[in-house]
Amino acid sequence: MGTVKCGLMKNFTREEGTCHNKISIIGTGSVGMACAVSLLLKGLSDELALVDINESRMVGETMDLQHGSCFVKMPTIVSSKDYRVTANSNIVVITAGVRQEKGETRLDLVQRNVAIFKLIISNIIHYSPCCKMIIVSNPVDILTFAAWKLSHFPANRIIGSGCNLDTARFRFLLGQKLGIHPESCHGWILGEHGDSSVPVWSGVNIAGVPLRALNPHIGTDRDPEQWSTVHREVIASAYEIIKKKGYTSWAVGLSVADIAESILRNLRRVHPVSTRIKGLYGINKDVFLSVPCILGENGITDLVMVKLSPEEEASLKKSADMLWKIQEPLKL
Ligand code: NAD
Repeated sequence: MGTVKCGLMKNFTREEGTCHNKISIIGTGSVGMACAVSLLLKGLSDELALVDINESRMVGETMDLQHGSCFVKMPTIVSSKDYRVTANSNIVVITAGVRQEKGETRLDLVQRNVAIFKLIISNIIHYSPCCKMIIVSNPVDILTFAAWKLSHFPANRIIGSGCNLDTARFRFLLGQKLGIHPESCHGWILGEHGDSSVPVWSGVNIAGVPLRALNPHIGTDRDPEQWSTVHREVIASAYEIIKKKGYTSWAVGLSVADIAESILRNLRRVHPVSTRIKGLYGINKDVFLSVPCILGENGITDLVMVKLSPEEEASLKKSADMLWKIQEPLKL
Protein backbone atom coordinates (compact mmCIF):
# COMPACT_ATOMS: atom_id res chain seq x y z
CA MET A 1 0.00 0.00 0.00
CA GLY A 2 1.36 3.42 -0.94
CA THR A 3 1.41 6.44 1.34
CA VAL A 4 -1.59 8.70 1.91
CA LYS A 5 0.25 11.45 0.03
CA CYS A 6 0.81 9.17 -3.01
CA GLY A 7 -2.82 8.14 -2.98
CA LEU A 8 -4.03 11.72 -2.70
CA MET A 9 -1.95 13.35 -5.41
CA LYS A 10 -0.52 12.44 -8.79
CA ASN A 11 2.59 14.48 -9.48
CA PHE A 12 2.11 16.55 -12.63
CA THR A 13 5.38 18.45 -12.92
CA ARG A 14 8.75 18.76 -11.22
CA GLU A 15 8.83 22.03 -9.29
CA GLU A 16 11.87 24.27 -9.51
CA GLY A 17 12.85 25.81 -6.21
CA THR A 18 12.47 29.44 -7.32
CA CYS A 19 11.98 32.17 -4.76
CA HIS A 20 10.75 35.57 -5.89
CA ASN A 21 10.63 37.61 -2.74
CA LYS A 22 12.61 36.40 0.22
CA ILE A 23 13.12 38.40 3.38
CA SER A 24 15.53 37.48 6.16
CA ILE A 25 15.57 38.90 9.65
CA ILE A 26 18.71 38.75 11.77
CA GLY A 27 17.77 38.88 15.45
CA THR A 28 14.59 37.28 16.75
CA GLY A 29 14.17 39.55 19.77
CA SER A 30 11.23 41.87 20.38
CA VAL A 31 11.97 44.08 17.37
CA GLY A 32 12.84 41.25 15.00
CA MET A 33 9.59 39.44 15.78
CA ALA A 34 7.50 42.62 15.44
CA CYS A 35 9.09 43.06 12.00
CA ALA A 36 8.32 39.41 11.19
CA VAL A 37 4.64 39.67 12.12
CA SER A 38 4.21 42.98 10.28
CA LEU A 39 5.82 41.52 7.16
CA LEU A 40 3.72 38.37 7.39
CA LEU A 41 0.48 40.32 7.66
CA LYS A 42 1.36 42.33 4.56
CA GLY A 43 1.90 39.08 2.61
CA LEU A 44 4.92 40.70 0.97
CA SER A 45 7.22 37.76 0.44
CA ASP A 46 7.10 34.05 -0.21
CA GLU A 47 9.84 33.12 2.22
CA LEU A 48 10.87 34.46 5.60
CA ALA A 49 14.15 33.31 7.13
CA LEU A 50 15.15 34.05 10.72
CA VAL A 51 18.63 33.93 12.26
CA ASP A 52 19.69 34.38 15.89
CA ILE A 53 22.48 33.13 18.12
CA ASN A 54 19.94 32.32 20.82
CA GLU A 55 18.78 29.07 19.23
CA SER A 56 16.12 28.19 21.75
CA ARG A 57 14.36 31.53 21.44
CA MET A 58 14.72 31.50 17.65
CA VAL A 59 13.23 28.01 17.28
CA GLY A 60 10.40 28.84 19.68
CA GLU A 61 9.54 32.03 17.80
CA THR A 62 9.72 30.21 14.45
CA MET A 63 7.35 27.46 15.60
CA ASP A 64 4.96 30.03 16.99
CA LEU A 65 4.89 31.92 13.67
CA GLN A 66 4.61 28.73 11.60
CA HIS A 67 1.53 27.73 13.58
CA GLY A 68 -0.14 30.91 12.32
CA SER A 69 0.44 29.89 8.68
CA CYS A 70 -3.29 29.23 8.17
CA PHE A 71 -3.93 32.92 8.56
CA VAL A 72 -1.20 34.47 6.42
CA LYS A 73 -0.11 34.11 2.81
CA MET A 74 3.56 33.28 3.25
CA PRO A 75 4.25 29.64 2.43
CA THR A 76 7.68 29.24 3.99
CA ILE A 77 9.01 30.32 7.37
CA VAL A 78 12.43 28.90 8.24
CA SER A 79 15.19 29.61 10.73
CA SER A 80 18.71 28.54 11.61
CA LYS A 81 21.87 29.70 13.29
CA ASP A 82 23.52 29.01 9.93
CA TYR A 83 23.27 31.93 7.50
CA ARG A 84 22.83 29.51 4.62
CA VAL A 85 19.12 29.73 5.46
CA THR A 86 19.15 33.38 4.30
CA ALA A 87 20.54 32.58 0.83
CA ASN A 88 19.18 34.69 -2.03
CA SER A 89 17.25 37.14 0.09
CA ASN A 90 15.92 40.27 -1.59
CA ILE A 91 15.88 42.08 1.73
CA VAL A 92 17.78 41.40 4.94
CA VAL A 93 16.57 43.22 8.05
CA ILE A 94 19.14 43.50 10.86
CA THR A 95 17.70 43.82 14.36
CA ALA A 96 20.43 41.91 16.21
CA GLY A 97 22.47 43.63 18.82
CA VAL A 98 23.39 43.91 22.45
CA ARG A 99 21.93 46.32 24.97
CA GLN A 100 23.83 48.88 27.01
CA GLU A 101 25.34 47.41 30.18
CA LYS A 102 25.59 49.18 33.51
CA GLY A 103 28.39 51.75 33.40
CA GLU A 104 29.05 51.15 29.70
CA THR A 105 29.64 54.21 27.53
CA ARG A 106 27.73 54.73 24.31
CA LEU A 107 30.97 54.33 22.37
CA ASP A 108 31.74 51.00 24.04
CA LEU A 109 28.24 49.81 23.17
CA VAL A 110 28.66 50.90 19.56
CA GLN A 111 32.01 49.14 19.37
CA ARG A 112 30.46 45.91 20.70
CA ASN A 113 27.64 46.14 18.16
CA VAL A 114 30.12 46.83 15.36
CA ALA A 115 31.96 43.62 16.34
CA ILE A 116 28.64 41.72 16.03
CA PHE A 117 27.95 43.45 12.70
CA LYS A 118 31.31 42.31 11.29
CA LEU A 119 30.21 38.70 11.56
CA ILE A 120 26.61 39.31 10.48
CA ILE A 121 27.44 41.42 7.43
CA SER A 122 30.12 39.05 6.11
CA ASN A 123 27.60 36.19 6.24
CA ILE A 124 24.80 38.22 4.64
CA ILE A 125 26.91 39.34 1.68
CA HIS A 126 28.23 35.81 1.18
CA TYR A 127 24.74 34.31 0.84
CA SER A 128 22.80 37.28 -0.60
CA PRO A 129 25.24 39.43 -2.58
CA CYS A 130 22.42 41.32 -4.32
CA CYS A 131 20.20 42.04 -1.32
CA LYS A 132 19.06 45.35 0.12
CA MET A 133 19.80 45.65 3.85
CA ILE A 134 17.51 47.44 6.26
CA ILE A 135 19.40 48.29 9.45
CA VAL A 136 17.29 48.66 12.60
CA SER A 137 19.74 47.94 15.46
CA ASN A 138 20.81 50.98 17.47
CA PRO A 139 22.50 53.36 17.23
CA VAL A 140 20.93 52.93 13.81
CA ASP A 141 22.67 55.74 11.90
CA ILE A 142 26.14 54.64 12.99
CA LEU A 143 25.42 50.95 12.42
CA THR A 144 24.06 51.78 8.95
CA PHE A 145 27.39 53.48 8.22
CA ALA A 146 29.18 50.39 9.60
CA ALA A 147 27.06 48.06 7.43
CA TRP A 148 27.90 50.16 4.36
CA LYS A 149 31.64 50.13 5.14
CA LEU A 150 31.76 46.42 6.02
CA SER A 151 29.64 45.23 3.08
CA HIS A 152 31.21 47.40 0.37
CA PHE A 153 27.67 47.55 -1.06
CA PRO A 154 26.66 50.68 -2.98
CA ALA A 155 24.90 53.10 -0.64
CA ASN A 156 21.53 52.64 -2.41
CA ARG A 157 21.32 49.08 -1.01
CA ILE A 158 22.04 50.01 2.63
CA ILE A 159 19.01 51.59 4.28
CA GLY A 160 18.81 52.63 7.91
CA SER A 161 15.27 52.59 9.32
CA GLY A 162 16.31 55.94 10.81
CA CYS A 163 13.57 58.51 11.30
CA ASN A 164 10.84 56.47 9.62
CA LEU A 165 9.62 55.66 13.14
CA ASP A 166 10.25 59.14 14.58
CA THR A 167 8.24 60.63 11.69
CA ALA A 168 5.38 58.19 12.27
CA ARG A 169 5.33 59.15 15.96
CA PHE A 170 5.38 62.85 15.01
CA ARG A 171 2.45 62.45 12.61
CA PHE A 172 0.50 60.46 15.20
CA LEU A 173 1.01 63.17 17.83
CA LEU A 174 0.13 65.98 15.37
CA GLY A 175 -3.01 64.03 14.56
CA GLN A 176 -3.88 63.67 18.23
CA LYS A 177 -3.57 67.42 18.71
CA LEU A 178 -5.71 68.24 15.66
CA GLY A 179 -8.19 65.36 15.68
CA ILE A 180 -7.03 64.28 12.21
CA HIS A 181 -5.81 60.83 11.10
CA PRO A 182 -1.96 60.70 11.07
CA GLU A 183 -2.01 59.75 7.37
CA SER A 184 -3.41 63.22 6.62
CA CYS A 185 -0.89 65.00 8.85
CA HIS A 186 2.19 65.74 6.78
CA GLY A 187 5.44 66.45 8.57
CA TRP A 188 8.96 65.09 8.60
CA ILE A 189 11.55 64.34 11.24
CA LEU A 190 15.04 64.23 9.75
CA GLY A 191 18.60 63.77 10.99
CA GLU A 192 19.57 61.35 13.74
CA HIS A 193 17.12 58.70 14.91
CA GLY A 194 16.96 59.80 18.51
CA ASP A 195 17.77 62.75 20.68
CA SER A 196 19.15 65.17 18.08
CA SER A 197 16.47 64.55 15.44
CA VAL A 198 15.22 67.60 13.53
CA PRO A 199 11.51 68.40 13.11
CA VAL A 200 10.96 70.26 9.84
CA TRP A 201 8.26 72.64 11.09
CA SER A 202 8.56 74.75 7.94
CA GLY A 203 7.00 71.90 5.97
CA VAL A 204 4.30 70.68 8.38
CA ASN A 205 0.97 70.89 6.59
CA ILE A 206 -2.56 69.55 6.45
CA ALA A 207 -4.05 69.29 2.96
CA GLY A 208 -1.32 71.61 1.69
CA VAL A 209 -2.06 74.27 4.34
CA PRO A 210 1.28 75.02 6.08
CA LEU A 211 0.74 75.34 9.83
CA ARG A 212 3.52 77.95 9.86
CA ALA A 213 1.24 80.22 7.73
CA LEU A 214 -1.28 80.11 10.60
CA ASN A 215 1.30 80.33 13.39
CA PRO A 216 4.60 81.92 12.21
CA HIS A 217 6.37 80.84 15.43
CA ILE A 218 5.27 77.20 15.33
CA GLY A 219 7.95 74.91 16.73
CA THR A 220 10.00 77.78 18.18
CA ASP A 221 10.36 79.02 21.78
CA ARG A 222 8.24 82.06 20.89
CA ASP A 223 5.22 79.92 19.98
CA PRO A 224 2.36 80.70 22.41
CA GLU A 225 0.82 77.27 21.64
CA GLN A 226 4.14 75.44 22.33
CA TRP A 227 3.86 73.00 19.41
CA SER A 228 7.51 72.09 20.03
CA THR A 229 6.30 69.79 22.80
CA VAL A 230 5.11 67.46 20.02
CA HIS A 231 8.73 66.89 18.95
CA ARG A 232 9.89 66.64 22.56
CA GLU A 233 7.27 63.91 23.03
CA VAL A 234 8.60 62.07 19.96
CA ILE A 235 12.04 61.95 21.58
CA ALA A 236 10.71 61.08 25.02
CA SER A 237 8.26 58.41 23.83
CA ALA A 238 10.88 55.69 23.24
CA TYR A 239 12.28 56.19 26.78
CA GLU A 240 8.75 56.20 28.19
CA ILE A 241 7.72 52.98 26.43
CA ILE A 242 10.97 51.27 27.49
CA LYS A 243 10.33 52.39 31.08
CA LYS A 244 6.82 50.95 30.96
CA LYS A 245 7.20 47.72 28.95
CA GLY A 246 10.95 47.20 28.71
CA TYR A 247 11.40 47.71 24.96
CA THR A 248 9.68 49.21 21.92
CA SER A 249 8.59 46.89 19.14
CA TRP A 250 5.23 47.22 17.37
CA ALA A 251 5.61 50.64 15.74
CA VAL A 252 9.14 49.95 14.57
CA GLY A 253 8.04 46.56 13.19
CA LEU A 254 5.20 48.18 11.24
CA SER A 255 7.51 50.91 9.97
CA VAL A 256 10.08 48.38 8.73
CA ALA A 257 7.35 46.45 6.89
CA ASP A 258 6.29 49.73 5.26
CA ILE A 259 9.87 50.33 4.04
CA ALA A 260 10.10 46.73 2.78
CA GLU A 261 6.81 47.14 0.89
CA SER A 262 8.13 50.18 -1.01
CA ILE A 263 11.18 48.16 -2.05
CA LEU A 264 9.54 44.84 -2.91
CA ARG A 265 6.61 46.42 -4.79
CA ASN A 266 8.87 49.08 -6.38
CA LEU A 267 6.44 51.75 -5.13
CA ARG A 268 8.91 54.65 -5.25
CA ARG A 269 7.37 56.16 -2.12
CA VAL A 270 9.31 58.70 -0.10
CA HIS A 271 10.54 57.63 3.36
CA PRO A 272 12.69 59.41 5.94
CA VAL A 273 15.41 56.76 6.11
CA SER A 274 19.06 56.89 7.02
CA THR A 275 21.43 57.27 4.09
CA ARG A 276 24.86 58.67 3.21
CA ILE A 277 24.49 62.42 3.03
CA LYS A 278 28.07 63.63 2.74
CA GLY A 279 28.11 66.77 0.57
CA LEU A 280 24.49 67.74 1.24
CA TYR A 281 23.09 70.41 3.56
CA GLY A 282 26.62 71.66 4.26
CA ILE A 283 27.63 68.31 5.83
CA ASN A 284 31.15 67.21 4.90
CA LYS A 285 31.55 64.27 7.31
CA ASP A 286 30.88 60.72 6.14
CA VAL A 287 27.75 60.16 8.19
CA PHE A 288 24.39 58.52 7.61
CA LEU A 289 21.32 60.55 8.56
CA SER A 290 17.65 60.47 7.65
CA VAL A 291 16.45 62.59 4.75
CA PRO A 292 13.45 61.92 2.49
CA CYS A 293 14.49 59.07 0.14
CA ILE A 294 12.67 57.53 -2.80
CA LEU A 295 12.54 53.77 -2.26
CA GLY A 296 12.00 51.21 -4.99
CA GLU A 297 13.30 47.86 -6.17
CA ASN A 298 16.87 49.19 -6.28
CA GLY A 299 16.67 50.54 -2.75
CA ILE A 300 17.29 54.28 -2.44
CA THR A 301 17.25 55.75 -5.94
CA ASP A 302 16.92 59.48 -5.21
CA LEU A 303 17.03 61.89 -2.28
CA VAL A 304 14.38 64.61 -2.12
CA MET A 305 16.13 67.92 -1.43
CA VAL A 306 14.16 69.64 1.34
CA LYS A 307 14.13 73.43 1.53
CA LEU A 308 15.20 73.77 5.16
CA SER A 309 15.12 76.99 7.14
CA PRO A 310 18.61 78.18 8.27
CA GLU A 311 17.82 76.96 11.84
CA GLU A 312 16.74 73.53 10.56
CA GLU A 313 19.87 73.18 8.43
CA ALA A 314 22.02 74.17 11.41
CA SER A 315 20.27 71.51 13.56
CA LEU A 316 20.89 68.86 10.89
CA LYS A 317 24.57 69.82 10.81
CA LYS A 318 24.72 69.60 14.61
CA SER A 319 23.18 66.11 14.41
CA ALA A 320 25.89 65.13 11.89
CA ASP A 321 28.69 66.53 14.09
CA MET A 322 27.36 64.68 17.11
CA LEU A 323 27.28 61.36 15.22
CA TRP A 324 30.74 61.92 13.78
CA LYS A 325 32.16 62.33 17.27
CA ILE A 326 31.04 58.79 18.13
CA GLN A 327 31.77 57.34 14.72
CA GLU A 328 35.24 58.69 14.06
CA PRO A 329 37.08 56.64 16.74
CA LEU A 330 35.30 53.39 15.76
CA LYS A 331 37.46 50.46 14.76
CA LEU A 332 35.84 48.94 11.68
P1 NAD B 1 16.49 41.99 21.98
O1 NAD B 1 17.59 41.93 22.97
O2 NAD B 1 15.11 41.57 22.36
O3 NAD B 1 16.91 41.19 20.66
C1 NAD B 1 18.19 41.22 20.11
C2 NAD B 1 18.43 39.86 19.53
O4 NAD B 1 19.69 39.88 18.84
C3 NAD B 1 18.52 38.74 20.60
O5 NAD B 1 17.59 37.73 20.33
C4 NAD B 1 19.97 38.25 20.47
O6 NAD B 1 20.12 36.87 20.73
C5 NAD B 1 20.26 38.60 19.02
N1 NAD B 1 21.69 38.66 18.72
C6 NAD B 1 22.70 39.19 19.47
N2 NAD B 1 23.86 39.00 18.85
C7 NAD B 1 23.61 38.33 17.70
C8 NAD B 1 24.41 37.84 16.64
N3 NAD B 1 25.73 37.99 16.62
N4 NAD B 1 23.79 37.22 15.60
C9 NAD B 1 22.46 37.04 15.60
N5 NAD B 1 21.64 37.47 16.58
C10 NAD B 1 22.21 38.11 17.61
O7 NAD B 1 16.48 43.51 21.47
P2 NAD B 1 15.27 44.24 20.71
O8 NAD B 1 14.39 44.90 21.69
O9 NAD B 1 14.69 43.27 19.70
O10 NAD B 1 16.05 45.39 19.92
C11 NAD B 1 16.90 45.08 18.85
C12 NAD B 1 17.60 46.33 18.35
O11 NAD B 1 16.67 47.21 17.73
C13 NAD B 1 18.24 47.16 19.49
O12 NAD B 1 19.51 47.61 19.04
C14 NAD B 1 17.28 48.31 19.67
O13 NAD B 1 17.90 49.45 20.22
C15 NAD B 1 16.89 48.53 18.22
N6 NAD B 1 15.67 49.34 17.99
C16 NAD B 1 15.70 50.18 16.92
C17 NAD B 1 14.61 50.98 16.64
C18 NAD B 1 14.66 51.90 15.45
O14 NAD B 1 13.73 52.68 15.21
N7 NAD B 1 15.73 51.86 14.68
C19 NAD B 1 13.46 50.92 17.46
C20 NAD B 1 13.47 50.04 18.54
C21 NAD B 1 14.58 49.24 18.80
